[in-house]
Amino acid sequence: MNAAFSVYIHIPFCVKKCAYCDFASYGGCMEQMGAYVDAVCREIRAQAALFGKRRVKTVFFGGGTPTLMTGEQVQRVMDALGTHFYIEETAEITMEGNPGTLTAERLRAYQAAGVNRLSIGVQSMDDGLLAAIGRIHTTAQAVQAVRLAREAGFDNLNLDLMYGLPGQTAQIWRETLEAALALAPEHLSCYSLILEEGTPLCAAVRAGTCAPLPDEEEMDAMDALTAKLLDAAGYTRYEVSNWAKPGRQCRHNIVYWECEPYLGVGAAAHGEVDGMRFEHTADIGEYIKNCENPACLNRPEGNNTREDRMFERAMMGLRMICGMDAQRFAQDFGQEPQTVWQRTIPQMIRDGLMVMTKERLALTRRGMDVMNGVLTRMMEEFPGD
Ligand code: SF4
Repeated sequence: MNAAFSVYIHIPFCVKKCAYCDFASYGGCMEQMGAYVDAVCREIRAQAALFGKRRVKTVFFGGGTPTLMTGEQVQRVMDALGTHFYIEETAEITMEGNPGTLTAERLRAYQAAGVNRLSIGVQSMDDGLLAAIGRIHTTAQAVQAVRLAREAGFDNLNLDLMYGLPGQTAQIWRETLEAALALAPEHLSCYSLILEEGTPLCAAVRAGTCAPLPDEEEMDAMDALTAKLLDAAGYTRYEVSNWAKPGRQCRHNIVYWECEPYLGVGAAAHGEVDGMRFEHTADIGEYIKNCENPACLNRPEGNNTREDRMFERAMMGLRMICGMDAQRFAQDFGQEPQTVWQRTIPQMIRDGLMVMTKERLALTRRGMDVMNGVLTRMMEEFPGD
């Protein structure tokens, strides 16, 4: 049988765009959902014909807002996956959910369809901040969503939280963290806001028409608070922005950070299978038209030289606290990382920013704080000379 992989399914529909979002998602075009789900099922069949009937280790419904799908639509996608691939019995099957779209009935139907992990986009427990960043839900709805998920039988929940929001202070962030911890999720993702060009929030910050972003000192205080509160509550940080109770790390995301193979299905999805990296059109109409034609759909991704791939392997792997698999790097590229980055790695180790064992290359806690600088140094040395 062909090697196992993971499957990412992109659902690009949202109720409306959040003010900070530059993901491939569209508000107000729900009338296309039915045709889109049909296309996803047809694409799964076509990709299986191309790549073979593989074992599937993890499935991730991301978006967009996958919880705009009905239970029946999710079931159809899961049936297509189960028909054309072998979904492992222990597969982690995650669905991202927006608290403004979750109902008891939908959650029960997702469970019945095989979804066993829910990642809820809570973002903040402050209603003023939620409104300021254009979220469609309130804090009360987020709390209710967690309650409904538990009642539906989900025992593996992630909550997504954001910090560094306009007008947010360390005290407000503390209240969000404490309210999230009170819900006892198995996993927490804490992302700092990235101001993306072209988004309404970016324009508002530039124009001074919203509260200012927290300064560096406030951001440092929020970082320190995150570590302190989550450590004390029994969560372990295993990636720059991700914390989990023992055994509850997100297996699907680890596939990305380890640069293991995954099939991307749907508009704007990316994938990497058998060393081939591809991306799909973000245009929903064009996607639906080409969904059964992987030769047309799987457009080779740019930036795919051997050097790009080595750098990406390091960039992704170093996000994890355990670091990059140095042995696999050497096997795949025929060179050890310390040969590729023969100046940077020893220097970083001397500076206390990196540690290297026979198996792995990792950043220290101090190295994590200056990760962008470390990567820039690696990029500058690259390709090794
Ligand atoms: S719900 Fe998520 S994908 Fe949709 S607009 Fe908001 S941030 Fe973007």
